[in-house]
Amino acid sequence: MKSIASIAAELEGYDPQALSASNVNAFLSHLIEPVADDEKVGIFQALGRVLSEDVISPISVPAHDNSAMDGYAFDGAQLSAQAPLKLTVVGTALAGKAWSGVVKPGECVKIMTGAIMPSGLNTVVPQEFVTRQVETTAVATEAATKPEVIVIPAGVLAIGDNRRKLGEDLLAGHPALQKGELLTPAALGLMASLGIERLPVCRKLRVAYFSTGDEILSLGEPPREGAVYDSNRYTVFGLLTRLGCEVIDMGVVRDEPALLEAAFIRAAGEADAIITSGGVSVGEADYTKAMMKKLGDVAFWKIAMRPGRPMAVGRIGQSVLFGLPGNPVAVMVTFLAFVRPALLKMMGSTAASPPLLKARSLETLRKKPGRTEYQRGTVTTAPDGSLRVRTTGNQGSGVLSSMVRANGLIVLHHSQGNVTVGDEVDVMMFDGVI
Ligand code: AMP
Ligand code: MG
Repeated sequence: MKSIASIAAELEGYDPQALSASNVNAFLSHLIEPVADDEKVGIFQALGRVLSEDVISPISVPAHDNSAMDGYAFDGAQLSAQAPLKLTVVGTALAGKAWSGVVKPGECVKIMTGAIMPSGLNTVVPQEFVTRQVETTAVATEAATKPEVIVIPAGVLAIGDNRRKLGEDLLAGHPALQKGELLTPAALGLMASLGIERLPVCRKLRVAYFSTGDEILSLGEPPREGAVYDSNRYTVFGLLTRLGCEVIDMGVVRDEPALLEAAFIRAAGEADAIITSGGVSVGEADYTKAMMKKLGDVAFWKIAMRPGRPMAVGRIGQSVLFGLPGNPVAVMVTFLAFVRPALLKMMGSTAASPPLLKARSLETLRKKPGRTEYQRGTVTTAPDGSLRVRTTGNQGSGVLSSMVRANGLIVLHHSQGNVTVGDEVDVMMFDGVI
């Protein structure tokens, strides 16, 4: 486990008084280790969890060559680009049952979608492509016993068409999913298609959080002049729950050394990570920073960003500490920009950060080079199909209503300057995250 000082010494351009957003993430990637424990869970419990081992496919999917259409299976070598092909129907292959007759040249088998391809056949003509005839040269006289004959027009089909091949989705013995993958609904379906009921996953991350500040009221307390209701605990609760963490809500901790000490010690004993909000700004006349310093190995930063300049990061005991600023929007922005990727790594996920979208700005945005700015925005689709974005108004770091109205954050990068109408900007979308 590296000390904060040794990580800082290795990081190029490390300046705790003006740390760039990219250096914050670089620092965290050195600090954070994935949790080691894993467990096996049933498929319904696996949604949103991270795989702790590769899953090797026990079978091939599909297990046999089969038909992708309702139609007629035949040997496609008989097709010619110039002449129609006439085939006599000698049987029917239904889904779920193998048809085991012999098919000679000039013959075909009526086949249903998903039915196993009879041996020697490699092509399926969809039923709507053919014309049906009754064989007039047949020996039988009763109409009911006359064999059905189909005619496939020339040039509509190639050999191998409408046949799904054995193992085209997955081959037995090959990894179907890899360690570090997040189990999505599609991944659950894939596992089920292999007959797998239980999955090896990383242990759930336990994250404790509390708010600090004597002016912060818990829900249920009567309003008091100069005091505000705690909103950070609820946004942090939501963000962590969406991420699939086990949450430990420790309430509001008053600005008293004994209370803060007890809270940090309990959190460090129970959780893999601790998230606090408030009390890390410069000139803060409280005990939060002092207690972090006393109990842990912690760096105090001023980040070149807006909103959310102050932040404390380090370890208390075995737990990773994220001391976020107090302002409600700053809490969410620092969580999304730094804490969320760090927690995903702790959860064992190897997924790359989701790509930023490009959208044209519908407004002029004032931006100073030398810091990263995150503006709350609404992305919409223009009539020509391109994306455009507009901010949601007041960008004050305490204004949560403009966060609620936004569907993403416009990311104005460190060295970027003013944006004029029509310029492309990067947007971090919220979908499924907040
Ligand atoms: P601080 O970082 O402690 O200086 O707090 C900055 C601002 O955020 C102050 O206006 C606080 O009242 C406000 N604030 C701090 N914590 C919370 C919280 N848990 N819920 C809502 N507002 C908060
Ligand atoms: Mg405060």
